[in-house]
Amino acid sequence: MSTTLNIDVNHHELFLDEIKTIIKKKYLEEWNTKWVNISPNENKLRKIKNSVYPWKTSNRKSRLDEVCLMRMRVGHSKITHSHLFRREDRPLCDKCQEPTTIEHILLYCRNMRFRPPSFSSASISDILKDNEESINEALQFLKRNNYLKNL
Ligand SMILES: [Zn+2]
Repeated sequence: MSTTLNIDVNHHELFLDEIKTIIKKKYLEEWNTKWVNISPNENKLRKIKNSVYPWKTSNRKSRLDEVCLMRMRVGHSKITHSHLFRREDRPLCDKCQEPTTIEHILLYCRNMRFRPPSFSSASISDILKDNEESINEALQFLKRNNYLKNL
């Protein structure tokens, strides 16, 4: 009698897990459909990431690298957005006189040295996509410029 009951309970738990998995998968599919229909010009996050599914490069061995990578992908960092807390105007790069953005820092800023050759023909989405080599290049570039503290 108790064996039958245990089998029923286990069967019931399995059934609930299957339902949760199906609901989660369906929810992600719907969210992804909405996400891919957003124009990259409307949403800067969409410009960087073309799906809602997790990227394996988001998890780094170093917590600092992980935080800096997330801030680059989101486009919000100390250097680009701390002026909002001080109620000041958006800062301009002191060397280039351009708005200080992650894109400017990675691709164009003349203050930055050691820019990888692969960045010359790349877009910000190319650099920050889910590619281990590209992410390592971006993080190394910022470290060589002693720039992680600004992100
Ligand atoms: Zn600059």
